[in-house]
Amino acid sequence: MRSTVPTGETMRHHWLAFTSNRRFHQAPKLVSKAEGIFYHTPQGHKLYDSLSGLWCTPLGHGNRQISEAISHQLSQLDYAPAFNVSHPLAFQLSEQIAGMAPGDLNHVLYCNSGSEAADTALKLARAYWRARGKPEKTKFIGRAKGYHGVNFGGISVGGIGPNRKVYGQTLDAYHLPHTWLTENRFSRGLPQEGDYLADALLQILEVQDASNIAAVMVEPMAGSGGVIVPSSGYLKRLRTLCDQHDILLIFDEVITGFGRMGTVFGADYFAVQPDMLTCAKALTNGIMPMGAVITSRDIYQTMMDQPGDDFMIEFPHGYTYSAHPLACAAAMASLEQLNQPSLMEQVRSLSQVFEDAIHDLKGLPLVEDIRNIGLAGAIQIQSDPAHPTKRASEISALCWDKEVYVRFGGNNLSFAPPFICSKQDIHEIFSRVADAIQQYARQQG
Ligand code: PLP
Repeated sequence: MRSTVPTGETMRHHWLAFTSNRRFHQAPKLVSKAEGIFYHTPQGHKLYDSLSGLWCTPLGHGNRQISEAISHQLSQLDYAPAFNVSHPLAFQLSEQIAGMAPGDLNHVLYCNSGSEAADTALKLARAYWRARGKPEKTKFIGRAKGYHGVNFGGISVGGIGPNRKVYGQTLDAYHLPHTWLTENRFSRGLPQEGDYLADALLQILEVQDASNIAAVMVEPMAGSGGVIVPSSGYLKRLRTLCDQHDILLIFDEVITGFGRMGTVFGADYFAVQPDMLTCAKALTNGIMPMGAVITSRDIYQTMMDQPGDDFMIEFPHGYTYSAHPLACAAAMASLEQLNQPSLMEQVRSLSQVFEDAIHDLKGLPLVEDIRNIGLAGAIQIQSDPAHPTKRASEISALCWDKEVYVRFGGNNLSFAPPFICSKQDIHEIFSRVADAIQQYARQQG
């Protein structure tokens, strides 16, 4: 079926996710083709993809190895029941992921997205404590500005107010402060200040008591919140406190997983091992929907060792499309490439260029902070007090006109270019973004 540019009546039926649909209809942004690090529009424009889609296509678009793997799998087995039956590729993929994950994170549960991975991990944390004879450990601790997707668990633990406010009651969750500090503005890479922010956990425990807390869930680097990077000792401190108080630590690595920080996981970057790690996005290079929770040996073994007969389901949870054969094929082909040391080396070397290029925008009007780590970064735009997201949204629209796709979230412009881009591409992206910011500032007088 050929796609045509939708107009009038056709436009009425599609309800866009996480989008101001009213605004979209005023100036629809459509892409109809993608290759490498570019999107093409139906109008014939070719745009840099400065966020690897939604942080999910680090190998760029049109990766042959992945599409061939999917086609081959399609010709063999298009679907396998996910419950009581499985298929060989699911086991191979789990072995591959276990080999890449840090320490004893060796057991993999599949789902179809980062949101499902978050909720799966939270449910597993509760089930684990019940299996350990501590059923009262049910509450969760997240962090302000944290994003763990849109399901009920994720929005409860997540710390982005607008994502929660229209949904009424959520799960019992408490929040650590975010790790953005004024004194760290314009830090290059890891900021200096902020290890002490982990101690806020103790204040929460003083009121809630560790005996009620199942898990702390944080992103190693808060991506959607605007690439907020913690200081170097923060996560280590959080790990120590969780150990001292018998609380599970879950890293949401949906953005940081599989190379974004120049190491396979954010856990590797900070040398901190969580009890569970969630991932999605780059796992399949964004080509097939897939998420996963990787758990420690202790969690897996505790669940397997529960008393009960052989017919007992150890963890009553799963999705029709868990470990879908086509997603497994995409993930195998994607991870084969992402696991190449030379690719990680390339990310680390591009990160330096990226850091210099993004920080060159310091001093432009309206730019109030710039942050970066690995191949991820954000430019924080001074908010218009009446409309906190307006300026970033309008600058991102100007970037589109300058043929760069730039995502805004809150008052941040976020960047996570594909690992396959060149140094020149990075410079070109930020030169166009700088033009857009300057043009916007001029228009505002
Ligand atoms: N967790 C994090 C850290 C994310 O960045 C995202 C998405 O951006 C999610 C979870 C949700 O993933 P999905 O949109 O695949 O449900």
